Amino acid sequence: MIYLKTEEEIELLRKANLLVSATLTEIAKVVRPGVTTRQLDTLAEQFIRDHGAIPTFKGFPAGIEGADPFPASICTSVNNIVIHGIPDDTPLREGDIVSVDCGTLLDGFCGDSCYTFCVGEVSDEVKRLLRTTKESLYKGIEAATAGRRLGDIGFAVQQHCEAQGYGVVREFVGHGIGHEMHEDPAVPNYGQRGSGKQLKNGLCIAIEPMITSGSYEIALMPDRWGVTTRDRMPAAHFEHTIAIHHGKADILSTFETIEAVEGKLY
Ligand code: MG
Ligand code: MG
Repeated sequence: MIYLKTEEEIELLRKANLLVSATLTEIAKVVRPGVTTRQLDTLAEQFIRDHGAIPTFKGFPAGIEGADPFPASICTSVNNIVIHGIPDDTPLREGDIVSVDCGTLLDGFCGDSCYTFCVGEVSDEVKRLLRTTKESLYKGIEAATAGRRLGDIGFAVQQHCEAQGYGVVREFVGHGIGHEMHEDPAVPNYGQRGSGKQLKNGLCIAIEPMITSGSYEIALMPDRWGVTTRDRMPAAHFEHTIAIHHGKADILSTFETIEAVEGKLY
């Protein structure tokens, strides 16, 4: 069931999402060669708890049989890992990319946003993948206006990425968000124009293109969480939580503070 939010609830969702953005900004300040994803996780968990929130990913039940609950506060997906990478003690290397997905629960509402960071200087091909994926997120957001349909969002993302020769992951999609991190509806990054449920004021969703530089086929890692591209080519993931508000997409998370830090680093 799709649960539309009130003005008040949208503002609470904004607070939870801005805390995710602030957490990702702290990560932006320290991502560099030699840093481990476990260090990023420790920093994120502390920052979220210091702000009176709970990291929603920690202990999140696995959708896959036989997997343990998620052991960390962020997902850190390096290079060919698309999503759900478990932080570990492997130092990041110059030229890597790392998608950091983060979720909070603050005053009963969830935040969810993801950003793919460059580690030192990355290749021009990888920069193009990141740029296209981020652009496709904003294309999807632009399509998210009251009266249009869910398929318009997916269509916009898919068109933009496939036109550049990239793959759109099919098995994982965006989602409604509110008291729960994952609510109805599912928000695919592919679709037909004018298809699917109509978008209405109060609808709050996470739009999250997961884009591959080669084939869009994926495989599960032995840890039963991480999802890799089957051809081991790099993948990118950017995510915003938005509300349909006064007829238009109101972006509740932000990349502005992250980009300000990146501007200094790169
Ligand atoms: Mg996320
Ligand atoms: Mg999400």
